[in-house]
Order: sequence, then C-alpha cells, then structure tokens
Amino acid sequence: MKLPPLEYACPTSLSEAVALLAAGGGEARALAGGQSLMPMLAFRVVAPALLVDLRKLPELREIEISADGVRLGAMVRWRDIEDDERLTAAHPLLKAAVAHVAHYQIRNRGTVGGSIAHADPAAEMPGIAVTCDAEIAATGAAGQRTIRAADFFLSALTTALKHDEIITEIRLPAWPAKRRWGFREFARRRGDFAMAAAALFYDQDAAGKAINAHVGMIGVGDRPCRLPEVEALLNGRTIDEATIERAAEITSATVDAQEDIHASAAYRRSLAGTMVERALRSAAA
Ligand SMILES: Cc1cc2nc3c(=O)[nH]c(=O)nc-3n(C[C@H](O)[C@H](O)[C@H](O)COP(=O)(O)OP(=O)(O)OC[C@H]3O[C@@H](n4cnc5c(N)ncnc54)[C@H](O)[C@@H]3O)c2cc1C
Repeated sequence: MKLPPLEYACPTSLSEAVALLAAGGGEARALAGGQSLMPMLAFRVVAPALLVDLRKLPELREIEISADGVRLGAMVRWRDIEDDERLTAAHPLLKAAVAHVAHYQIRNRGTVGGSIAHADPAAEMPGIAVTCDAEIAATGAAGQRTIRAADFFLSALTTALKHDEIITEIRLPAWPAKRRWGFREFARRRGDFAMAAAALFYDQDAAGKAINAHVGMIGVGDRPCRLPEVEALLNGRTIDEATIERAAEITSATVDAQEDIHASAAYRRSLAGTMVERALRSAAA
C-alpha cells in the first residue's frame, strides 16, 4: 500500500527536531531507519501528519566505549554494532543479541533508538537494555531526562517516552572482563523476531559462586522482563547441572507468557525455560 499523505522534515540540529515534534502536538513522529515505521504507515497502523527524519544528526550515530560502559547513540545501526570489533570485548552480550536482529537489508538501516522507541516485546535490543540495567537518555521540549530501562517499556509498543521526546542515547553499564554470559533465541527462521529468547549474565566470587545474576526474557510477555526468582536461585550458587535444571523449571513456572498466532502461552513458557537452560549452560561452559 502507498503511504498516507504526510509532511516531511529533515532537521540538522537536535533542538530543531525536538521543536518540530513539539509543534506537531502528537501528530508528528521521529523517523530513524524506517524499518518499523514505514510498514506501519503503509498498513495505516499509524498516520502522522509529519515525519521528522533524524538522519542528519551525526551526534546520534556515535558508539563510545569507556570505563563507565558503552554509550550507543540512538541512530547507531545494527550493522555499526556488528562491524565494531571493540564491542566483542566491551559488551559481548550486546553483540551476540544483535546478531539475531532481522535480515541483512534491515540491519543496514534499523537503529538502536528506533528499536527501543518501537518497543516490540520480541525485539532483542529492549531485552538487552532491561537485562543490563541500561539507561535511556531522551531530549524533549522540557529538556533532557534519563529513564531506566526497567521503567521505560510499559507494554507492547508502548513506552514512557513523551510525544516530543527524542531518544538520544542508550547507556549500558561497564562489562567486567571475566563476566559469564549467555544468549539463546528461538525464532522460526534466522532473523525473525524471537518466539522466546534468554539474555543472562553473572559474575563470580572468589569461591566461584555466582553473584550479580541478571536473567532477562525476550518475546515471551508483553515487554522484556527480568526473572527475579531465577536470579535469586543463581546468586550464591555454583552453576552446575542441578542448578541449571532448577533455573529452567522456575523460569517456566514464573514467566508471564502471552499467546499469539505463533505460539500458545504454555508453549512459550516451556520454550522460555529451555532458552534459560541453554543460555546458562553456555555461560557456565
Ligand atoms: C521483516 C522485518 C524483520 C525484523 N526482525 C527484527 C528482529 O528479529 N529483531 C528486532 O529487534 N527487530 C526486527 N525488526 C525491526 C528492526 O530491527 C528495526 O530496526 C527496528 O524496529 C527499529 O526501526 P528503525 O530504527 O528503522 O526505526 P523507525 O522504523 O524509523 O521508527 C520506529 C519507531 O520509533 C520511533 N523512533 C525512531 N527513532 C527514535 C528516536 N531516536 N527517538 C524517539 N523515537 C524514535 C519512530 O517514531 C517510530 O515510532 C524487523 C523489521 C522487519 C521489517
């Protein structure tokens, strides 16, 4: 289908972009790579009066790695992450998850900020943000603010972002070199959205017991989530076979799963347990 009639603007400063969104009063939308927005326009899921293209804001395209962690500008594309060798050490979990995002053409255009703003429950980046306690920086007419990923995703395709706010960057906390991690995803085909994925990591104390366990779930409920009961099980334990099996059982018993055309809730709960089991096994290996 053809797009609905709309106006288009391509500002060259962030303040101009924010002013355009604010003036639009909810009828204007930011445009990143268009990989979700263009299909939504074509199918009339959304019908904004104005698109505000962010592609001429180079300050949103930076990847910065420092002792504080990884800072991803909102307009960083999947391909940029894939091509950045520094991230293999600086954030292996991010790199592993992004390898599952979509197909070649989409990866050349789709952005980190677009994925976070779009908030598809089955998208990898929101799940990584929640699992890693990321911060999301946004600028709007009222100024800048930082939103914790845990508070950002409200439900499927719904976030805490206001209509005049532009995500400027996503900040992932520093990644210790010896951290154990795992990422496992099940999708019908490589590049499809996840039917269930587990993203997890833990550190180890001097005795080799897990501490600081973070276990995230993608594609199972209406938004990405952590699994506190599984994290409580892992913390203070050696990650052996018995613990891994118990973690899988607790995942399936406690995760909030949704039914859709791809899978029943019961199947998703079972799949979620399997994903956690496999991710933990790879982390412990
Ligand atoms: C066939 C297909 C398969 C896909 N498979 C996957 C997959 O497996 N995993 C996955 O994660 N994704 C997948 N995607 C989505 C893809 O990853 C997109 O990159 C992602 O949805 C965001 O698109 P975009 O960056 O082009 O943003 P756009 O489509 O331009 O925008 C998406 C939404 O975010 C808003 N927005 C964009 N940038 C900002 C910003 N900086 N601040 C505020 N609001 C903003 C827009 O207004 C819009 O509402 C798939 C897409 C397609 C078409």
